[in-house]
Amino acid sequence: MSAAEREKLLVDLGFGRTFTEHMVRIRWNAAVGWHDAELVPYGSLVLDPGTAVLHYAQAVFEGLKAFRQADGGVATFRPDAHAARFRRSARRLALPELPEETFLQAIDTLLDADHEWVPSAPEHSLYLRPMMFASEVSLSVHPAEEVTFLLIASPSGPYFPRGVKPVTVWLSEDFSRAAPGGTGAAKTGGNYAGGLLAQAQAAEHGCDQVVWLDSHEHRWVEEMGGMNLCFVFGRGAGSRVMTPALTGTLLPGITRDSLLVLGRDLGYETEEGGISVEDWRSGCEDGSLSEVFACGTAAVITPVGFVKSARASWTVGDGVMGDVSRRLRQALVDVQRGAAPDSHEWLYHARVSS
Ligand SMILES: *Cc1c(COP(=O)(O)O)cnc(C)c1O
Repeated sequence: MSAAEREKLLVDLGFGRTFTEHMVRIRWNAAVGWHDAELVPYGSLVLDPGTAVLHYAQAVFEGLKAFRQADGGVATFRPDAHAARFRRSARRLALPELPEETFLQAIDTLLDADHEWVPSAPEHSLYLRPMMFASEVSLSVHPAEEVTFLLIASPSGPYFPRGVKPVTVWLSEDFSRAAPGGTGAAKTGGNYAGGLLAQAQAAEHGCDQVVWLDSHEHRWVEEMGGMNLCFVFGRGAGSRVMTPALTGTLLPGITRDSLLVLGRDLGYETEEGGISVEDWRSGCEDGSLSEVFACGTAAVITPVGFVKSARASWTVGDGVMGDVSRRLRQALVDVQRGAAPDSHEWLYHARVSS
């Protein structure tokens, strides 16, 4: 594709609608393991209708970003952590574990071919989507003996093109995302499929997003949609940033982990613990809980401004993005774009041949 054609496609991107020219494909089967890693043109798959993933959802994915750096280079944010989580997700779904070096190599290969697709505008990035699925053709239920790994990439603009605005959330008491012993800690599409009806219910109540509570008591806060949640107690420099502990039903977000580290760097107290719906409401009412935000790779930080449930509704802080949220967001974005020192060695600089 010519540079001019590409430039046209890189305008007004939105999220996850445009894809680059190539993808990496690696096959696995029980007899030979991983084999035939290949860079191929991006394109449709031909699947037998009996392909196992279409029936039994044995599949996992990841989502990470490559950023155009201030010096013109390209760097991926914490790909090693994503590779490790991809292995853990695969293990839970009885899929073969892709070695971490192979995961990183696949990213290198794709970036080498398609690095010109990494946008340079502020808040833009190349979103990388590794995935793995049961490509065996069989209707019998068993861990697949044939699996396909694919890595695709999507140049993306800001998740919220009209700026970061606080969302209104619906506390879901009719539905659960994950239960003890289930797949909540794995990045697998089934968790999302099971959440869509609750998301639709949230929309019926005039809310943007659904907040998941624990499946047993529907009392302990877990996540918001496909993002983790953070609660800011107090104000200013002495603030305490608290996030629900990883009980096994939450997805261990890499943004969550990064913000806990950056929060400590900025001098905030950080904590992983439990927060109930009553704590959330009373903290907002007495002013001790000043900010709430959701965090994840795609949207970075999304402030939560209003909360609704079947019984109550309340405002968080002033209903606008708070200072701690803003400072944490800026600190993360600055490291990702090479505008602040990478003191935790989170960036992997791509070796692209031009
Ligand atoms: C991916 C995901 C997150 C956020 O993880 P990041 O690594 O920060 O992108 C949170 N919750 C769910 C359910 C997810 O799938």
